[in-house]
Amino acid sequence: DLSSKTTLHNGVEMPWLGLGVYKMDDGDEVKEAVKAAINSGYRSIDTAAFYGNEEGVGAAIKEVDVPREELFITSKLWNTDHGYDETLAAFEKTLERLDLAYLDLYLIHWPLPKVDKYKATWRAFEKLYQEKKIRAIGVSNFKEEHLKELIRGSQVTPMVNQVEFHPHLSQEPLRSFCRDHNIQVEAWSPLKQGDLFDDDTLKEIAERHNKTVAQVIIRWDLQSGVVTIPKSSKAARIKENSDVFDFELSNEEMRMINHLNKDERVGPDPSLFNKQ
Ligand code: NAD
Repeated sequence: DLSSKTTLHNGVEMPWLGLGVYKMDDGDEVKEAVKAAINSGYRSIDTAAFYGNEEGVGAAIKEVDVPREELFITSKLWNTDHGYDETLAAFEKTLERLDLAYLDLYLIHWPLPKVDKYKATWRAFEKLYQEKKIRAIGVSNFKEEHLKELIRGSQVTPMVNQVEFHPHLSQEPLRSFCRDHNIQVEAWSPLKQGDLFDDDTLKEIAERHNKTVAQVIIRWDLQSGVVTIPKSSKAARIKENSDVFDFELSNEEMRMINHLNKDERVGPDPSLFNKQ
């Protein structure tokens, strides 16, 4: 169920399924969505400094009746804050906006290879981790080359890599690299931002199980060993997206979905994205 968790390489447990809050307004929209999610059993919330809604997430956390220790809160360091000192300062601001004493997971949002500061940034992540201000540290949008470069000379290997992942972008080689290094892969835009609902293969599999296409995709994430954070601000869909623990895709259905891959992104290629 929604309480099922993966164990990261440092022993910290992270829920397999959470709520993403990208593009939700910092106000009632994000607050109501996070409350609806937590009240229907979600324990993991994925926000970022860039989303501009950390305060709303923090407000929702205060209003629900679930102890802080039972929640798993992720935020991300934005591109303008790469660098050692900049990271320490940006992290404090994130904690203040969320009004939390610690984060469960903090990610470098993008590697920005041309800017070339992600290693200095990671030194600050390691320090915050050692000071126990963050329970687990990770990265987002890192390709194999960026991960290799980061791991070389680092004390802590990232626990998580959050990347674009959906049936049109199955990331096989990167997932295999991450598996070999005990890095948990997490999917962003797992529903390809709504672009998969007309797919005939997914529709057929959904009908077979009396489930929706969204539920089939989320189930495919979980059976692929990928943590997933679908976004919706509607209470009914938030609930629908978590109702995926009472059915199982067969090996053949998993293969059918794997075959939909066409290495097609909705977001930028991380190697080419250097915007600060
Ligand atoms: P998504 O793939 O989760 O799709 C969300 C869209 O699908 C919404 O617009 C919603 O209207 C629709 N939807 C959701 N559930 C539905 C359902 N059951 N039926 C019909 N429609 C449904 O897109 P996303 O928001 O881009 O990605 C999810 C989360 O990943 C984000 O909210 C964010 O937390 C994270 N993210 C991270 C990065 C990164 O660079 N690290 C980038 C993008 C997103």
